[in-house]
Amino acid sequence: MLGLMQDWPLRIHRIIDHAARYHPDRPIVSRAVEGPIHRTSYHEVRQRALQLAQRLIREGVAPGERVATLAWNTWRHLEAWYGITGAAAVCHTVNPRLFRGQIAWIINHAEDRLMLADLTFVPLLEAIQEQLPGVRRFIVLTDDAHMPATTLRNAVAYESWLAEADGDFAWAEVDENAAAGMAYTSGTTGDPKGVVYSHRSNVLHALAVNNGDFLGLRARDVVMPVVPLFHANGWAIPYSAPMAGAGLVLPGAKMDGASLHELLNGEGVTITAAVPTVWLGLLQHLDATGGSLTSLERVVIGGSACPRPMTEAFETRYGVSVAHAWGMTELSPLGTFCSLKPETSALAGDALYALKVKQGHPPFTVDMKITDDAGRPQPWDGATFGRLKVKGPAVAGAYFKAESKAILDEEGFFDTGDVATIDAHGYMHITDRSKDVIKSGGEWISSIEIENLAMGHPAVAEAAVIGVAHPKWDERPLLIVVPKAEAAVDGASILAYLDGKIAKWWMPDDVAFVSEIPHTATGKIQKTALREQFSAYRLPGL
Ligand code: AMP
Repeated sequence: MLGLMQDWPLRIHRIIDHAARYHPDRPIVSRAVEGPIHRTSYHEVRQRALQLAQRLIREGVAPGERVATLAWNTWRHLEAWYGITGAAAVCHTVNPRLFRGQIAWIINHAEDRLMLADLTFVPLLEAIQEQLPGVRRFIVLTDDAHMPATTLRNAVAYESWLAEADGDFAWAEVDENAAAGMAYTSGTTGDPKGVVYSHRSNVLHALAVNNGDFLGLRARDVVMPVVPLFHANGWAIPYSAPMAGAGLVLPGAKMDGASLHELLNGEGVTITAAVPTVWLGLLQHLDATGGSLTSLERVVIGGSACPRPMTEAFETRYGVSVAHAWGMTELSPLGTFCSLKPETSALAGDALYALKVKQGHPPFTVDMKITDDAGRPQPWDGATFGRLKVKGPAVAGAYFKAESKAILDEEGFFDTGDVATIDAHGYMHITDRSKDVIKSGGEWISSIEIENLAMGHPAVAEAAVIGVAHPKWDERPLLIVVPKAEAAVDGASILAYLDGKIAKWWMPDDVAFVSEIPHTATGKIQKTALREQFSAYRLPGL
């Protein structure tokens, strides 16, 4: 017997239709790439997305064809997300921070035929367009007045190109399982891998993260996604914000502390989201200027581990609550949020901050397990490490053009490549990437935990821990530190600071000082580069 409810496929355009109908005038504020602050609304975004969908079809875009974007967070990029999927095409967000060769590889692998790009990236595209024979037209996200002279193939200014359509258009009918979006993982080894989101997975994911214990957006929120739309499905904020009718503030190309501070206070932002390095910049700016955060209630921190001093700084000095989140491109991307449960809500002070270092528990639609290398489930005791595996309707089942290659275990779980513990209350704590974990005497040492603790030392600006070869123990931890500019510091004082906070056998064998730690295009510490840099290094006494 079938249920007797309506057939209402989960298509992405329904999100912007909902926002335009019930929250039409909600402000969408952007720092335009051309400079000034630009203001629009959900009503207008929908109208222009319809125009874009119509114009794309007139351009010859076929259902399922990939249309690429190379753009900052602005209203035009938001329109592109809805316009491209509304034409039954696939919105492929390309990360401009990758190496040029990698960008070209990704565009060719995805077989992008049209490219919508910000002014910033015109020189980059001019330099690689010979390697992109498949792209038939470059549409520059600007108006005629700002359009530069360019050699880009069939280049046109977005505004005049868009104006050739009137928006009298009905969204393309697509199956809810049809592809809607695409993002490549920025793997540190091997070729990037294409993750393909569907209409259904994106709608379900946005519904899941809008629950109260997770992103939980409301119509009265003003959300500033600093995380770029080209990182991991934009942390799904382009879907979850209009779904809730929340206002949006889009910071464009400027993500330094002063520019973000100006938007946060000036536009009444209540919730914002980005990787820890962005927040390091904001906190340094606030500390240096004595500034405050006048409207911000919550800051979502993820993409790499949020160090405890950062959580304490936001919460105790600026009155902003921190939500530590974990996710990955393959998870659409949010996997867990560290929000309180009845079992943890009485925690305060030290115990509360110790909890907030964890990545948290998953929303409905994400199922987790930890296993040993042989696939045996590990106990949820908060101490036993295991490979973290996940399952759900918004978790990748295969990569683009590798559909026949199994990436799931026999129970249908995807191996995240992270190593984690899970405690009795279901809070997951990432201890490492599996390839970064330090194996000493057959036991695992968490590099992230040592890094987090070291960051609490007053003279440490940034810390990274890698394993270096040891004849007896296989590997021992080496702590690599970027000291704060004004600080005089020595290794012994940092080791003394760690003493008593970690097991004796976790203690780094040495501390090395560097002026900079390399980061990947998505802001993560690049351990492969560090291991290379320190490949000739010998531990003291060896
Ligand atoms: P990406 O697909 O580029 O978003 O990278 C996903 C990876 O980032 C995860 O598999 C983790 O290794 C790492 N990651 C994301 N969020 C966190 C977090 N809160 N703490 C530690 N690692 C994180």
